[in-house]
Amino acid sequence: MSDLKNAYLNRYEIRRIRQGHPWIYTKSLDRVDDGLTPGDTVRILGPKGEFMGVGFYNPNSKIVLRKISKDEQAIDTKFFREKFKDALDYRDQILRGRSSFRLINSESDGLSGLIIDKYEDAVLFQIMSLGMEAHKAEIIQALQETLEPKVIIERNDVSSRQYEGLDSIKKIHQNSISGEELQNYSITIDNLSYQLDLIEGNKTGLYLDQVENHLKLRALCDYYEKPNVLDCFSYIGGFSLNAAYAHPHAQVTGIDQSKEANALARVNAQNNQLDSRCTFIDANVFDWLRNADPADKYDIVVLDPPSFTKNRYTVDNAIRGYKELHVRALKLLKNGGRLLTYSCSHHISESILRGLIHEAAADTQSTLREEAVYQQSSDHPIVMHIPESYYLKGFCYYKI
Ligand code: SAH
Repeated sequence: MSDLKNAYLNRYEIRRIRQGHPWIYTKSLDRVDDGLTPGDTVRILGPKGEFMGVGFYNPNSKIVLRKISKDEQAIDTKFFREKFKDALDYRDQILRGRSSFRLINSESDGLSGLIIDKYEDAVLFQIMSLGMEAHKAEIIQALQETLEPKVIIERNDVSSRQYEGLDSIKKIHQNSISGEELQNYSITIDNLSYQLDLIEGNKTGLYLDQVENHLKLRALCDYYEKPNVLDCFSYIGGFSLNAAYAHPHAQVTGIDQSKEANALARVNAQNNQLDSRCTFIDANVFDWLRNADPADKYDIVVLDPPSFTKNRYTVDNAIRGYKELHVRALKLLKNGGRLLTYSCSHHISESILRGLIHEAAADTQSTLREEAVYQQSSDHPIVMHIPESYYLKGFCYYKI
C-alpha cells in the first residue's frame, strides 16, 4: 500500500469528513501528490497530516474524493468479497430469507458509487464513480465468488454517471440463463410473482425500496370490507398487486404513464390470478386525477411519484407538483379512507412533505390523522452521519 499517492485536506467541512461522510468536495482538498490520475486510489491525509482513509480521486467531479475505507488496505477482489459478504450477512439477518434484495446501497454499505441488486439468480450492478469503474473486473469476480449468480448484468445506464465523465453501458457479463428466460425473468417476493425487465426496466427492474411498504398496505386493506384502491404511479404493479392479494374483495386501479410498465403490471396481475380485480390505466396521473369523477371515491389512495427534483434548486417547483397531487388525491378519498404518500427525493424532507400535505388538507377542508411514518426498505440502510442516505419517506393519513 505504500505505493499509494496522497491527497491532502484542508479544514473545510473537516468535522463532517471526520465523522465518516465519504464525500469530499473540491473545496476541502488542499493538494494532491504529483502524478495522480483521475480514478486512482489515494491515501487521504487530514489537515495535520493524519491518516484518514483510502478513497477514489476524480478531479473532474464535484465530489473529488470518495472515501472507501478507513483503514489502509488494498482495494482488490478480496476487499469487495468481504464487503459483499458483510452486506449479505446483514440482509440474511433482517430480511429473513427473502431472495431478492438490494445487496449494496452505495454509501450506506460503505461503497460510494456502487449499487448491486439481487433478483434470485440474477445480479445487476450499477457504478456511479470513476474510481469504482476502474475496479469493475474485481467487482464482477467478487460477485461471482460470493453469490454464484446465473447471470451478472451491468446496468450502467444511469444519467448520474455523466457527473463522473462516464458513458452509458449495458452489458451481460456472465450468463447461464437462456435469452428467452432472461426476457421473461420472474421472481417471487412475499408470495407474489413479478415478471421483470432486467435490461430495460426502471432502476434495475423493481423498486426494491418500496417492498416493505407494499406489505404495510396489505395490513391496511384488512380494515375495509371491500377496499377500493387507487394506486397512482403504479409502475409494474407493486402496491396494486399487494392490495389485491391482501384482500379477496379489493378492487384496484393503477395509473402510470409508461405503457411498458402497465403491460408488465397486467402480466403480473394475470400471473398471480389477480387480473379480475386489477385495472391498469396508461395516463398521466395529474391529468387523470383532474378529470376523475368526484363521485368515484376511494378507500385507499397511494401516491408514489418519481422524484420531482434531483437538486435543491428545483425544490419549489417540486413542492408545487406534490401539493397539487395531494389536493387532487384528497378530493377522491372517502371519509374514513387512507392516503399513503411517499417522496423519494432527498431534498423533500419529512417536514417539507408533511407541511405541503397540511396545506393540501386545508385547501380541501380535509381533517387528517397521521397514522404512520414510513421510510425506504431496510436493505437500503440509513446511516446517521450520511443524511443523503435517507431519501424515501412516506406517511399514512386517515381522513376523518
Ligand atoms: N409505486 C411503484 C414505483 C413507482 S416509480 C412501486 O411500488 O413499484 C414511479 C412511476 O411513475 C414510474 O413507473 C413512471 O413511469 C411513473 N410516472 C412518472 N411520472 C408520471 C406521471 N406524470 N403520470 C403517470 N405516471 C408517471
